[in-house]
Amino acid sequence: MKISVLGATGSIGVSTLDVIARHPDRFEVVALTGHSRVEILADQCRRFRPAYAVVGGPDEARRLSDLLTAGMATEVLYGPEALCQVASLPDVDAVMAAIVGAAGLPPTLAAAKAGKRVLLANKEALVMAGAVFMAEVHRAGALLLPIDSEHNAIFQSMPHDFAGNMARGGVRRILLTASGGPFRNTPADQLRTVTPAQAVAHPNWSMGRKISVDSATMMNKGLEVIEAHWLFNAPADRIEVVIHPQSVIHSLVDYNDGSVLAQLGNPDMRTPIAHALAWPDRIDSGVAPLDLFAVGQLNFERPDSTRFPCLDLAYRALRAEGNAAAVLNAANELAVEAFLEERLPFLGIAEVIAETLDQVPQAGLPDLDAVFDADRQARSVAGKVLASRRQR
Ligand code: NAD
Ligand code: MG
Repeated sequence: MKISVLGATGSIGVSTLDVIARHPDRFEVVALTGHSRVEILADQCRRFRPAYAVVGGPDEARRLSDLLTAGMATEVLYGPEALCQVASLPDVDAVMAAIVGAAGLPPTLAAAKAGKRVLLANKEALVMAGAVFMAEVHRAGALLLPIDSEHNAIFQSMPHDFAGNMARGGVRRILLTASGGPFRNTPADQLRTVTPAQAVAHPNWSMGRKISVDSATMMNKGLEVIEAHWLFNAPADRIEVVIHPQSVIHSLVDYNDGSVLAQLGNPDMRTPIAHALAWPDRIDSGVAPLDLFAVGQLNFERPDSTRFPCLDLAYRALRAEGNAAAVLNAANELAVEAFLEERLPFLGIAEVIAETLDQVPQAGLPDLDAVFDADRQARSVAGKVLASRRQR
């Protein structure tokens, strides 16, 4: 299988290449992309010898070309157009969509339009443009396989021909598990002063900075509720979030007859990555077997929407339909960036998102232009909300 890895230098990208390297007979890397971590991308190019490598801009392209040894056939490209190009190359079978944030939408959509096997880690693409994206997947006959561990677990717990048709599959509810993040037990008054370093220190998963902050605010789970809505055609009131601190059960599907199916495993993204890479086969991922005796207990709690208002904001956006989820996503991206740069306190993240949702007028999202309009509008409003907070 020939594969392009978008976001190869990130957490998911590195795990993807780890799995691919275990099966040189099975996978061939055609393209690797990275934004600014040029040295890491150069190492990956030396190892996997892709036909193309894509970086953010001309400076990074020059640096990458300098790092690649003479005689290497890797062609260095840069910019958003090049990302779309390597996502839709005719001889590519599968695309790992692992760019973080809204920047991942155009190339992920390009892969869907080209009818590829799309391994979807970039949940923001689906949150922003769910209707447009799913329409393209169906029109082009793309195979959309979820990498997000919860959605991969749900996919594994639903018969394949029922995925996307909950009524026919007799599904009552989707139970989306959440670790609760680093602040699960942190009292409300202490959340006021938590730092970026504390927020990105996740207890169970090692991930990129943005998703780590999303996990700390529980916006990650909110985005995942919206992601599940689109992937499995599930209405908001049939998706329930369950805090499960051990991160061993990756999600569950509750059927009408009382059966509940789940997928379990050690919290290591190489499991869903290997699952989606090889589906419907099973291959070694390098993940250690689950030791239930070492796990001992599996616990469950209700999410606390007072301390973690982001989860309700996401449900609100999903129920509002139209541009609301795109607005939510854009405001969250801006607020998280401001928090990471210490321009916004932790609790300010939810406040900025709520104010932006209040201020951006409701609108439909008939096409991709409308999606990007909503994204731009929300970033502009969220920027003003951030600026006015600093003046107070
Ligand atoms: P990361 O920050 O570690 O990596 C992000 C990648 O995207 C890097 O390769 C970076 O170079 C690239 N990138 C960043 N900005 C870009 C831009 N403007 N243009 C082009 N490329 C750009 O992030 P990650 O943790 O690997 O997460 C990637 C995606 O997968 C996110 O959407 C995240 O929500 C999702 N996801 C991650 C995990 C995880 O365990 N890390 C789990 C589930 C879902
Ligand atoms: Mg997840």
